[in-house]
Amino acid sequence: MAIRRLLRLCIFVFSVLSAAELQAAKFSRVVIDSGHGAQDNGARIGYIYEKHLALDVARRLERYLNAQGIRTVMTRTTDVFIPLEERSELANQTRDSILVSIHFNMVNYAGPKGVEAWFYNEEGRNLATFVQEEIVSSLRTANRGVKFARYKILRTCTRPAVLVEGGFISTKEDLKRCLDPKYREALAISIGNGLLRYRKS
Ligand SMILES: [Zn+2]
Repeated sequence: MAIRRLLRLCIFVFSVLSAAELQAAKFSRVVIDSGHGAQDNGARIGYIYEKHLALDVARRLERYLNAQGIRTVMTRTTDVFIPLEERSELANQTRDSILVSIHFNMVNYAGPKGVEAWFYNEEGRNLATFVQEEIVSSLRTANRGVKFARYKILRTCTRPAVLVEGGFISTKEDLKRCLDPKYREALAISIGNGLLRYRKS
């Protein structure tokens, strides 16, 4: 009897420990991708390039996550060109990682504004939902929703992945916000908080 009780206790302790481990292991690293780079400027209005705004937000996100004890890997830290499949491959090769790709939007007609989060696989949808909710509630920006896309970087990524479009530089109101370092800092922090909430979920 005593042995059986001990065995049951062992099984109980083991299952509690492995459940805790599983939760903590949801991700231990964040691969942060700044959209575009070098000859690929991304969206552009005059001398304002999407690639620079994206790198700035990526750096802010890196600082924030590191301060929270989360390890990060950047796809680029300077103005260089990296093929999309190499960006997702970095996440695929990084154990227990998730991928966050940062972009800004542009269209050639007036009006659209706000933030959207794109995903490809089911876990990506889950991740994108947390990130989008956090951005919209803390930045009070227009919610353009969480959407499915077959973007190459998402399609070729085997890790949970989200692509954030942080505002329309083609719309005056959004452009003004995107040029404000305070907005970019708040955007980075809210993306980070979305990731942390996803981790706890
Ligand atoms: Zn882009």
